[in-house]
Amino acid sequence: RAPLLAVDHLGIDYRLKGIALKAIEDVTFELKAGEAVALVGESGSGKTTTAMAIAGLLSPNAAVSGGEVLYRGSRLPIDEDDAMRPHRWSDISVVFQGAMNALNPVHRILNQIAEPCMLKLGYSKVRAMARARELLELVGIPPDRGRAYPHELSGGMRQRVMIAMALACSPSIVIGDEPTTALDVITQAQIMKLLVQLRSQLSLALILITHDLSVVAESCDRVMIMYAGRIVEEGTVSDIFSDPKHPYTKLLIDSIPDPSRGRREIRPIPGDPPNLVSRPSGCAFRTRCPSAMPICEAEVPTYQRLGYGCVACHLYQSSRPASKVAANV
Ligand code: SF4
Repeated sequence: RAPLLAVDHLGIDYRLKGIALKAIEDVTFELKAGEAVALVGESGSGKTTTAMAIAGLLSPNAAVSGGEVLYRGSRLPIDEDDAMRPHRWSDISVVFQGAMNALNPVHRILNQIAEPCMLKLGYSKVRAMARARELLELVGIPPDRGRAYPHELSGGMRQRVMIAMALACSPSIVIGDEPTTALDVITQAQIMKLLVQLRSQLSLALILITHDLSVVAESCDRVMIMYAGRIVEEGTVSDIFSDPKHPYTKLLIDSIPDPSRGRREIRPIPGDPPNLVSRPSGCAFRTRCPSAMPICEAEVPTYQRLGYGCVACHLYQSSRPASKVAANV
């Protein structure tokens, strides 16, 4: 049976002054119904480009350079705005970061939640407003607050409204694009708890985009670590945390504050991620990697299947790439 979503060797380029810059390359993963996966990486790693590609929301200067995305076994027209329209909201929806920018400041929140029900599901205004009240309750907002305008709500309440809108047409997949950015720590935890609860209540599949590895521990089943446009490691949450393989994953985990070891501050990874214009040859992480070897400059590491997942690093390189090893298992 086909997985709910399959991202197959997807590549996306950004065109800038006639030059094609690789934003993501060879991105491959599957998502089962009801599963929660996280795409984790620093800014510029390609995680948001991957998510926006899946939702068919690429910017006008972006183009698919290779691969495809399949939804329930059928190719999604991710680079055709009109053809993608029936899938947005109904099959795949997005909870964007920064709800204040994503919500319309001059419309009451109930009307904003009701709108996709009328446009996509063909509901009458009365039925759509009833559905919007239901959705407000589902995300923990008293329905009588529906008359409020976005600026009258706290940041956490606005993010709950964004979640209600994302759920309006009962999608199978919700993408959370840094859904807790700009919220205080307590509100972040409440929003993540809400997403986890809704995921199990509605059997949703969740793709969580985040730069913060610590938020995925409680909320996701699997993690994919992205660096410079590629997935460099993939595994279950428990394996990634207990036995990370890729040097970048290890540094990401070490950067998380750990009060039990007297570390209360984030410990940043030394150096900066490469930009789209100047990616190092070979392994893109080699300029920051404490384990870099001469081969890391010469060759891009291929994916190797380990016990629980995959890693792309010359430290684990065998003669057979992951896809061939996987086919033989
Ligand atoms: Fe480090 Fe080399 Fe592995 Fe890249 S391939 S992460 S540079 S050891």
